[in-house]
Amino acid sequence: MSRSRYAGRHRAPAEPSRGRHVVVPIALLSTTIAGGIVVRSAGASELTPEAAAIKHLSNTVAGLGLDVREQALAAANERPAVATTQVSRELSRAAVASAVSLTDEKTSDVEAAVKKAKAEADKQAEEEARRQAQRWVAPISNYRLTSGFGWRWGRMHPAQDFGAPVGTPVLAMSSGTVIFSGWSNQGYGYMVQVRYWDGTVSWFAHNSRLTVSVGEQVSPGQVVAYSGNTGHSTGPHLHLEIHTPGGGAVNPRSWFAQKGINI
Ligand SMILES: [Zn+2]
Repeated sequence: MSRSRYAGRHRAPAEPSRGRHVVVPIALLSTTIAGGIVVRSAGASELTPEAAAIKHLSNTVAGLGLDVREQALAAANERPAVATTQVSRELSRAAVASAVSLTDEKTSDVEAAVKKAKAEADKQAEEEARRQAQRWVAPISNYRLTSGFGWRWGRMHPAQDFGAPVGTPVLAMSSGTVIFSGWSNQGYGYMVQVRYWDGTVSWFAHNSRLTVSVGEQVSPGQVVAYSGNTGHSTGPHLHLEIHTPGGGAVNPRSWFAQKGINI
């Protein structure tokens, strides 16, 4: 049997016409998007022992999470010495080492990309949740504006009145905490006060019914009361005061306009 007609347990006889099988195995490699390595367009019977080793390695390390280096060394070692090969075992080991190095690099690239994409998705979800929690909404719908902010009958009216039928839902204008909910002795009737995330406080007065308690967390649009005609009131309406952080009552219409809310 000639040296070139070796028939091992795992290989078909090499074709004599191929001559010296000195190849640079790395040249046969191409990376896959999965981070593994494949031997491009080469059937098993066409492979040199080194390329076959690389292909075996590729199959071995295809899954992420394996101990790639250990698997590669095992793959290199498990091949029996082949007397007919023209390429040294050292070259084979070097090629395997190169391949493993490339695989490690690709694996960490993929892991880094996955990690980055996940972090970006988390960040966007957080940002969206924050936007939702911090959005502002009008406190009532189906109303008509009655008394506005300013002097009225010789007294300051530090509020906007919304004429509405008794029982119209009154809504939290954003995320916040209920700081008052009960009967007011100052003429406000059944009143709710909410302090929002930015320190702004809204007063909802003259309600018929209250649905929240002091200390309760509320979210934008949550029903906190139903409008009414309690306290010093001349007709069914919501009396809304807006107190900015550290300041007094401001004109609700101007304040809403700054938030982009038309009332
Ligand atoms: Zn009023």
